[in-house]
Amino acid sequence: MSESEYCPGCSHSHLQGLLREIFQERGLTERLMGVVGAGCSQDLGKYFDFPVIKAPPGLAPAVAAGIKRTTPDRLVFTYQGDGDLGSRGLDALIHAALRGDSITVLCLNNQVMAGSGGQMSITTRTGQVTTSTRLGRSTARAGSPLKLAEMVARLPVAFSQRVSLHESDFVKRARLALRDAFDYQENGQGLSFVEVLGICPPYWHQSPEEAQQSLKQSLVRHNPAGIFKGVTMIR
Ligand code: SF4
Repeated sequence: MSESEYCPGCSHSHLQGLLREIFQERGLTERLMGVVGAGCSQDLGKYFDFPVIKAPPGLAPAVAAGIKRTTPDRLVFTYQGDGDLGSRGLDALIHAALRGDSITVLCLNNQVMAGSGGQMSITTRTGQVTTSTRLGRSTARAGSPLKLAEMVARLPVAFSQRVSLHESDFVKRARLALRDAFDYQENGQGLSFVEVLGICPPYWHQSPEEAQQSLKQSLVRHNPAGIFKGVTMIR
């Protein structure tokens, strides 16, 4: 396992720390298989000992579905950013959901294409400055951002929730959501999806602290946390 190469404050480090705790607590590591695509999320395999497969950009849900069908005892999940999942490969997610594949799809949504230089992604907030929207995303020019968790909930999936990592109460809820997502897969109930709002300080042109504040505002104004499909498992 390597030392983290993510930028200071990067939410990938935070999210992967949560996943590590959950996997260890629940003794899942032996059965896990991760699938990544393009972008900063593709480094997942450097930090975990279970197998992580690299899919072509955007196609992680399709690859994960194939693995699950051939090795149903595996717990198979994709680990993607909003750029890979939403901008490059939304169709792969939609097809997996329509087929009812029992996989878990995790998306760290930092609202920018971090892996390719900080361009606008499909979830970039209106007004957000990126390297391809220097004056801020304009709805007139670029349309509206996609709300991933709400969109996924309209498909025949088992579970869709949006969580955030900006404050400890939200982190607790994120932890439960991640556990729930794997429980849905264990129960063979169909696709489970968790959108995790996070930060990318360098491409938000902010310090990690400023970026956490921006994330909080985004949550209130644009991307409310919540369960959009399914229920929290009773514990
Ligand atoms: S560019 Fe952004 S997403 Fe990529 S490692 Fe740095 S902070 Fe994380």
